[in-house]
Amino acid sequence: MNKGNIGVTTENIFPVIKKFLYSDHDIFLREIVSNAVDATQKLKTIIQKGEMQEEAGDLTIQISVNKDKGTLTVSDKGIGMTMEEVDKYINQIAFSSANDFLDKYKEDANAIIGHFGLGFYSAFMVSKKVEVITKSWKTDSKGVKWSCDGSPEYEMDECDKAERGTDIIMYLDDDCKEFLDEYKLKELLNKYCHFLPTPIAFGRKKEWKTDKDGKNGKYVETDEYNIINDTTPIWTKKPSELKDEDYTKFYQDLYPMSNEPLFWIHLNVDFPFHLTGVLYFPKVRNQFELNKNKIQLYCNQVFVTSSVEGIVPEFLTLLHGVIDSPDIPLNVSRSYLQSDSNVKKISTYITKKVSDKLQSIFKQDRKQFEEKWDDIKIFIHYGMLSQEDFYDKAKGYVLLKDVDNKHFTLDEYQTLIKDQQTDKDGNLIYLYAQNKENQYAYIADAQKQGYSVLLLDGELDSAMLGLFEQKIEKCRFLRVDSDSIDRLINKSEDKDNSKDEKDKSPEPISQVFKNCMPTLDKTEFNVETRDLGINSAPVIITQSEYMRRMKDMARIQQGMAFYGDMPDMYNLILNIDHPLIQQVITSLPEKQDEESLKEFSNPLVNQLIDLALLQNGMLKGESLTNFIKRSIELMK
Ligand code: ADP
Repeated sequence: MNKGNIGVTTENIFPVIKKFLYSDHDIFLREIVSNAVDATQKLKTIIQKGEMQEEAGDLTIQISVNKDKGTLTVSDKGIGMTMEEVDKYINQIAFSSANDFLDKYKEDANAIIGHFGLGFYSAFMVSKKVEVITKSWKTDSKGVKWSCDGSPEYEMDECDKAERGTDIIMYLDDDCKEFLDEYKLKELLNKYCHFLPTPIAFGRKKEWKTDKDGKNGKYVETDEYNIINDTTPIWTKKPSELKDEDYTKFYQDLYPMSNEPLFWIHLNVDFPFHLTGVLYFPKVRNQFELNKNKIQLYCNQVFVTSSVEGIVPEFLTLLHGVIDSPDIPLNVSRSYLQSDSNVKKISTYITKKVSDKLQSIFKQDRKQFEEKWDDIKIFIHYGMLSQEDFYDKAKGYVLLKDVDNKHFTLDEYQTLIKDQQTDKDGNLIYLYAQNKENQYAYIADAQKQGYSVLLLDGELDSAMLGLFEQKIEKCRFLRVDSDSIDRLINKSEDKDNSKDEKDKSPEPISQVFKNCMPTLDKTEFNVETRDLGINSAPVIITQSEYMRRMKDMARIQQGMAFYGDMPDMYNLILNIDHPLIQQVITSLPEKQDEESLKEFSNPLVNQLIDLALLQNGMLKGESLTNFIKRSIELMK
């Protein structure tokens, strides 16, 4: 019997391992099973090279539990180890790598992404004793049994072992007995081992069996292994071998409760780095479903993490799918990761692939692209807003949609509106609505005028229009209700504001309307008169584009509380060309000082105000009830 001391320096490595990464104990299973997979892959290589003569036999890795003994065992039929190898790889190398690992990370456990590198010794995170029973593939090898109870001492001896390969037997700690539970293990195997390249069996398949008369049904084990993994997931295959159904099925396996994906991108590159994977554009029902931790990162089919920040460009973390690359350094901090040159290349490659895919759908199947536009625009907008180079890539296919559901590229739209919507200063005015229903009347007016109106009702649309204004020369966005139709697009000098400027003292008619305005919470009205022609409405409410945007932005951005706290400012525009306004004017008292105007009352004024408020969805509660009562009175 061989006895020895693992460890030269650190007496306390095991307690440290136990404590370490306490919340992430689970990963021991990945480490131990990955080692079994590695040993099996190595055996396959040896067979391929013709170095081993005998039959390899079944190479399935077995995971089993013994509840009585409190053990969890991982058994492989891989290369196994000779006694010298156990001494070298387990006593010396595995130990020193565990030691290095701890040295490096005891300060900053959060800095590790994959917690890779702890390897074999991670078994001690959950075990009071670990046994290794192994037999090398080499001819005439003897079995070796190694065991260690968590002190720095180990025992090693020859033993009988019939078959080639390695059993790792973990005697679980009392507080880690959960790892004996079938469901817990299934969950972990599913998380960490789902796509490992060697078949892994956990127990046997079960079948539902009943008595002859169909009663007393129960599950009974069959002879068949219960294989828990898919050894050749789609990202390891060539795109030419795969059908659409394969991609959608894989997606369903990964995200069982999700909608069908919009489309996908198969990543496959060998140089200057290795990367494979499939990224999906998810169909999200609302912004709350946008989830950043849906892409899974693998390293040679071993699950590492579902947080790919720093590896994938920020805006693409909204995608779903799988990335597998052995070239992403795993046990480094996030900040280091971003400066790694491979990671930079990977990020650029992925952005380009995504953009190329979008571009090719746009070019080859514009109809499909337009149909999916509402679903994909959030990704494209996010990308354009957050990444300059993506803006340049996407500006050729980013679409604008009008209120009649027609789609245009930026260039197409420019051509469309150039003649009608250029103002006197040569600015191209992009009119838009944010809500087709609420802004119905304004949209109709603009269309009657021969203008086109865009519908910007997406999450990021208001940020996008700001970006377009920056990027596209002489481009202004105005919401259809930001001014009366005659001034929305100022085409000639005579529609200048100078008329209002000189007229500082309010006209009596404006004064009367102002006096009758109901008080609305955090809302102020500025009343003015204009000659809008007899065919326009008598009273119109508008809101300046600038103020509204500031308020919109204050809602989503910090540091703009100043605007957020300000009241909403509206303009109440009285159309003095309208007969009803004229009627009010003629009914005004002769004496038009402040007092007399305050006392003046005419239900027509209240009625006109309320109708304008109603049109904008601003008439509510008591004011609405009063309006209804007054309307009934007027009808009598
Ligand atoms: P790593 O796997 O990163 O090299 P480990 O600590 O996990 O580090 O393992 C150390 C070494 O022990 C491995 O490189 C391998 O040579 C050997 N080893 C571990 N598990 C097995 C196994 N199941 N079969 C054969 N060799 C193994």
